[in-house]
Amino acid sequence: KGDHFAVHWAQSVNLPTSGIREILDLALQMPDVIRLETGEPNFPPAPCVIDAYCQAARDGYNRYTASQGILPLREALAEKIWRVNHVARTPDEILVTPGGSPALFVAFMGILQPGDDLLVPNPGWPDYLGGVQALHLNAHPYPLRAPDFWPDLDTLTQCVTPKTRAIVLNFPGNPAGSLPDANHLKALVAFAEQHDLWIISDEVYDQIVYEGSALSPATLAPDRTISIYSFSKTYAMTGWRLGYLAAPKSATESLGRIAMGLWSSVSEPLQYAGLAALRYDQAGIVERLARYRARRDHCLDILHSRHIPVTTPQGAFYLLVDIARLGQDSRSFALDLLQNEHIAVAPGQAFGSQTASYVRVSLASSEADLDAGVSRLADLIASSD
Ligand code: PLP
Repeated sequence: KGDHFAVHWAQSVNLPTSGIREILDLALQMPDVIRLETGEPNFPPAPCVIDAYCQAARDGYNRYTASQGILPLREALAEKIWRVNHVARTPDEILVTPGGSPALFVAFMGILQPGDDLLVPNPGWPDYLGGVQALHLNAHPYPLRAPDFWPDLDTLTQCVTPKTRAIVLNFPGNPAGSLPDANHLKALVAFAEQHDLWIISDEVYDQIVYEGSALSPATLAPDRTISIYSFSKTYAMTGWRLGYLAAPKSATESLGRIAMGLWSSVSEPLQYAGLAALRYDQAGIVERLARYRARRDHCLDILHSRHIPVTTPQGAFYLLVDIARLGQDSRSFALDLLQNEHIAVAPGQAFGSQTASYVRVSLASSEADLDAGVSRLADLIASSD
């Protein structure tokens, strides 16, 4: 038994730690740092959401609920998925989760076996890999290529093995913020069909879209798509831990049974808070989006005026600033920037090899921090010429 635990302990120690975390942990130990490294809205949740939480707790909603989530919330989510994502899902096809990350984990756990291969985007959110490794899956990164960070189907096909069972799509994505057009999406879904893959569609940024609209693969292939959503970014509720997934009923039923063993049910007052967010904070979504867009445009003006290459994200809230001309790897650049200038950015290599010569700036930080931090960053990059 002792050995058994030793093996598992060793495996958990080997879990990858995120390169964003490294900068964040250092930044937290230093005074007066301009924090542009994490994707966390600087807004508080709407007052109506906080009130709904307190009211639900006072009214006695403090118990376990059905593991798939309370029915009124799932009904409201079905309505949202129809209105925003244009997918018809019934409340039975929705599972409420404690955030997008556990929704991803439960999806991986439910549809994949140890040893299976899974396609993940490069660049992509590094935290996919924690769940992948804990479940003994093999992640095969597929490249999203600059400048538009769109997957190239030929390369994608080369990443498929006889053990590939699923592909993670993330549009609009972290860190690149690109969006597929209808033809791109059709080709990707056809690829998944051809190789009989599940599509795990991470749509946590579905309501943070500046140009175009976030098309869900579930509009084309509802029977093979598990869509992952979250209240974290849309409603500035990162610390509350509320998310949901939508999938065919057979899948949500089995995923609900796994959820039962993992978290029993999501906090009951929190589910009522989520319901209030859906009902009463629609204007808040529009206001926050306008702020992110203004921040994006302001930062792009600063960087373009100094001729520094940078992505123009169509969605999500990140800029990828190209630092290739500095000839320094992005991790050591980010560490130097923190040490010397007290500016924290996420090194692009944390998201995969395709962004090794970029740093990621989060537009979820305040206007003042973005203005000061991005101006200084731009000066530094420009002065290297
Ligand atoms: N997916 C992506 C692409 C993300 O960037 C994040 C958070 O940064 C998540 C999922 C998970 O969000 P949460 O667990 O807070 O819902």
